Amino acid sequence: MQFSAHQKISSDYDVVVVGAGLGGMTAANVLAKLGNKVLLLEAHNKLGGLATWFTRQNNQFVFDISLHGFPHGMVKTCRRHWNSDIANHLHPLKEVRFINPQFDLKTSFDEVDYKRHLKETFKVDPHSVEHFFGDLKEMNFYDNSQISNRELFDKYFKGRNDVLRFLLEPIVYANGSTLEDPAISYGIVFSNFMNKGVYIYRGGTEEMIAKMQMELLKNGVDIQKQAMVKEILTSSHAGEKRVEGVVISRKCGDEIIKARSVVSNGNLFKTLNELVGEKNLSDHFKSELKKVRPNSSSCQVYMGLTGIELPFMGDLLFTSEAETFSTEELLSPKISCQTFSMYYPDMRPGKNLYSVVSSSNARYSDWENLSEAEYEERKKYLIERATSGLEKVIPGIKRHITYTEASTPKTFEKFTHHYRGSSFGTKFEGLAVSQKVSDEIKGLFHTGSVGIIMSGWLGAANYGVIVGNKCDSYLSQNNQAEVNL
Ligand SMILES: Cc1cc2nc3c(=O)[nH]c(=O)nc-3n(C[C@H](O)[C@H](O)[C@H](O)COP(=O)(O)OP(=O)(O)OC[C@H]3O[C@@H](n4cnc5c(N)ncnc54)[C@H](O)[C@@H]3O)c2cc1C
Repeated sequence: MQFSAHQKISSDYDVVVVGAGLGGMTAANVLAKLGNKVLLLEAHNKLGGLATWFTRQNNQFVFDISLHGFPHGMVKTCRRHWNSDIANHLHPLKEVRFINPQFDLKTSFDEVDYKRHLKETFKVDPHSVEHFFGDLKEMNFYDNSQISNRELFDKYFKGRNDVLRFLLEPIVYANGSTLEDPAISYGIVFSNFMNKGVYIYRGGTEEMIAKMQMELLKNGVDIQKQAMVKEILTSSHAGEKRVEGVVISRKCGDEIIKARSVVSNGNLFKTLNELVGEKNLSDHFKSELKKVRPNSSSCQVYMGLTGIELPFMGDLLFTSEAETFSTEELLSPKISCQTFSMYYPDMRPGKNLYSVVSSSNARYSDWENLSEAEYEERKKYLIERATSGLEKVIPGIKRHITYTEASTPKTFEKFTHHYRGSSFGTKFEGLAVSQKVSDEIKGLFHTGSVGIIMSGWLGAANYGVIVGNKCDSYLSQNNQAEVNL
């Protein structure tokens, strides 16, 4: 059932899922389908987490935050773990375009077209191209390979900054990878995209999340929005910590919900440092957590267009004014690099909507200590960079941009409670810590963007499936132990 905001729940659960991002929602759905009694609690007034949207000007404009593209694997994940209606709305993007001082090209963003460009446009030795793709396909998360992205690219394309830009830039946007990160974090995500190109949900984020919410309710998940969990309760039994439930912060007084297990989809740092509390973690685990780095954040500018009929000009435009490519430049507050996601009326059939969202990677530290006036100035600068950047690509478009709004790392922090507004959770080392949460506290699991691989729509949803199944095994073993007593 759907509880109204602030309504008392007064029930015990097999599992409480804290946070309704794609990881939390998918875990909740998997657990409910396996027969568990599940409660899904979300702090915001809508489900989806970063998979979200907002409307402006009396619904004249709808803006998607993270609906820019994901790998084809999402089709299988949705078909298996959600339903075929959702899966049937996932369609490939037609065209991705790069516009920068080194090259201006269009691609369908799949292996055949990428190989063609590498050989014909960039004139790379065909053997290197084939070996590079072969090497990526062999990459396996469990190999424990220490090779970095820089070493991987030097091995095949040394001295070719333009090739590096073509291969790495989209993945930096997709998961915050840098040249120093393990090549595995690039290789797996890039190969996933190369499989069949970039996909998107046609119908808009709001439609997909509404269908997911209906599916959750159909499968018996109890849901409450505007339910901020302030604590995950634990107890000690013979030196072993075990989860007992959660505390929801309510205006009329806190409410304790008892549960045999808890899956947190909140940020890894926030889950452990704030909801569980450092005092409940072993020294070894705390020191492992301290080594985890948050991933980078993002800025966006939402542009609503009126009085225009645009011909198709590509779905995703990777633009940069920087002469050469560097992952540092992508994070720079100068905003010399931005991606434009173009939304044509066929995104939301029946509504004649054109909108464009510009995204750039960002560092929280560049935004954290600004005065209110400086912050507003910087947002104006973001909007100026976005509108003038778009005008360069599509001359004459600026006068049709009748609505603009900017978001910053502070916005992402505010709405999703991600530590330092991180867009993709943590860097690579976060995954091992996330996976070990249930060894540290029995019955507690973590899911959601971590470790670069388990991030993005596909990574988060897949990690939700993995953790949902792991939590179900824990519950089944505990049932068995209780029967045997
Ligand atoms: C600007 C931007 C663009 C992106 N573009 C893409 C893209 O094109 N393709 C792609 O695949 N990925 C993209 N991503 C990344 C992708 O959106 C995320 O990796 C993914 O959606 C994260 O899912 P998650 O499960 O980690 O949960 P999140 O989306 O992080 O959601 C966590 C939820 O938990 C809730 N929560 C947290 N703490 C509590 C608490 N204490 N009590 C109750 N609720 C709580 C939050 O309110 C939130 O709703 C983008 C991200 C950003 C920021």
